[in-house]
Amino acid sequence: MPLLREVLPECRRARIKGELQDPCAALDCPVCLPREARRVAGALGMAMPDLMLTITSLPLQWPLIRDRMNKVIETLRRSGSAYVWAYSVERNGDGRAAHAHAFVRGPRLSASTLQDAAGRAQVGRVHQETMYTRGQALGYALKEIGRSPDLPVGEALAQQAGYLELNGQRLVHASHGYWLGPGGDRSNLRRVKVPGARVPFPKARRRVA
Ligand SMILES: [Zn+2]
Repeated sequence: MPLLREVLPECRRARIKGELQDPCAALDCPVCLPREARRVAGALGMAMPDLMLTITSLPLQWPLIRDRMNKVIETLRRSGSAYVWAYSVERNGDGRAAHAHAFVRGPRLSASTLQDAAGRAQVGRVHQETMYTRGQALGYALKEIGRSPDLPVGEALAQQAGYLELNGQRLVHASHGYWLGPGGDRSNLRRVKVPGARVPFPKARRRVA
């Protein structure tokens, strides 16, 4: 089966009456969705998060995921620091559960806060890693969706739809104040311009048909 990028090399909505306009940037566009994912991954890194949290054993329905993530975040806030955060959800490899990667600006959390957050939210584990470089964010967040153009077209479309369903039809969820512009000033996601055209994603493994 041909790959998504071979079947759909460019945004269909961008070519109107034969003239090339700006890509539509809509999440229901299979060409623009992975592009937006790369931009958002870059913006996640540009916001200089201090920590990456991995939240495991999440359910597969967005409303339940949202409730549990809200409880995790509430517990972090109660621990005393003002945190801003952004997260996205991915299905586990075995398809039976999901996990979230959350990028957080704020001090490192104590082991008891992490345990408390996992217990209250009824998730598996809340694990923290200190982020030392911006690039770290890019490798994790949105990798699945960012590399979808390299998948066979049917698989790519199913993966995109699955991702959006798991994330409540959004690429990422962020608290007020998370996004920063290049100068470190507060921004919003739509306005964040990520320098460098492309963010490298791990290459998808080619499957033998
Ligand atoms: Zn488009």
